[in-house]
Amino acid sequence: MGKIKNIGILPQILIAFVTAIIFGVIFGPSISVVQPLGDLFLRLIEFIIVPLILSTLVVGVASIGDMKTLSRIGGKTFVYYIITTAFAVSIGLAAAILFKPGEGVDTSIAVSGKTPEPNETGGVINVLLNIIPTNPVAALSNGDILQIIFFALFLGVGIAMVGEKAEPVYRFFDGFAEIMYKITWVVMKLVPIGVFGLLAPIIGSNGLSILLPLLELIVVVAVSCIVHAGVTYSISVRILGKMNPLKFFKGILPASLVAFSTQSSSGTLPVTIKSSEDNLGIKKKVSSFVLPLGATINMDGTSLYISVATVFAAQAYGVDLSFSQILMVVLIATLGSIGTAGVPGAGLIMLTWTLSTVGLPLEAIALIAGVDRFMDMFRTSTNVTGDAAAALFVNTTEDKADSKADRNLDSAQSFT
Ligand code: ASP
Repeated sequence: MGKIKNIGILPQILIAFVTAIIFGVIFGPSISVVQPLGDLFLRLIEFIIVPLILSTLVVGVASIGDMKTLSRIGGKTFVYYIITTAFAVSIGLAAAILFKPGEGVDTSIAVSGKTPEPNETGGVINVLLNIIPTNPVAALSNGDILQIIFFALFLGVGIAMVGEKAEPVYRFFDGFAEIMYKITWVVMKLVPIGVFGLLAPIIGSNGLSILLPLLELIVVVAVSCIVHAGVTYSISVRILGKMNPLKFFKGILPASLVAFSTQSSSGTLPVTIKSSEDNLGIKKKVSSFVLPLGATINMDGTSLYISVATVFAAQAYGVDLSFSQILMVVLIATLGSIGTAGVPGAGLIMLTWTLSTVGLPLEAIALIAGVDRFMDMFRTSTNVTGDAAAALFVNTTEDKADSKADRNLDSAQSFT
């Protein structure tokens, strides 16, 4: 037992990951007996999310204080999200056009009854309007992350504006945030058990043979995600984040593997926050803002998947996409990924919106649905890794801004 404690958390997670795949293949559906371990872990991290985001974001925003800094951080976060999403969409489109995963696919294997209605998605305008909670308490109890972010932002700004009188409220949230960090630390110890309990049953109950008919599609999505992470994030981490990409990928690996196993960016959030702060040195004021926002609106893996899957559908059903249709795919994959919730399978629902807008047969959804979970693993990992790369970029540039402000202050003081 003592020996297990001596192994670092990262090797433990990796061992759990590999063991889950091996056990899933060997034991098949009967490995689902370990599912309760996965569910236990999932419930624990879900239980942390709302109080963690609320308390850390309120403290983060209140300690940033002024609206100017806040809008600067918000502005660059958003621009970064959009630019990396555009890269992801381009990589996905290029790979799908080049490797043609949909050509010659037997469309009769579509699972009937799995074609959702396009209006299930709600659209981008609704997503934007829904950010404003009509009842913040309901937002908290429903776990609506974007609404909670909105509420916490305003609370933090309010505390900073009121000043001294709001000091007790600030101290309350500060203490609360510390408690939530400690709880997260405890739950992180269970990541290896969670990864094993979640992944083994998926592999065991689906069996690898389910992947075969659409193997090319899965491989194109998976490899494109890896290329996007390996190229776009490495460049961003090296040039904008001033960090060795290997250190970055190693540091964020616990979160990437939890994302792979849970297929939920939102569910992975506590692990993303913890890994970013402990392993990448990202400050709380940045992580508490950039990461929850990213977990809900920054989905590079999802946008990449939507573009690959749309081109796949066109190829499978023999439709030639015109140039303007391809541009439409770029736009919708970007907007669609912003509107996708950070939960398992949400990207597939968004895909219906893309297909119906571009005018492709919705039966493609039924074709893909059976193997979507495997693509979800790769896209969610990419989503979460991309959020951390964004946080690193903001952290590094804010460090520069802070030290510049300090220098200005010093020289101002030297005149007095
Ligand atoms: N499962 C993804 C996520 O949580 C969303 C998607 O389905 O693409 O990030």
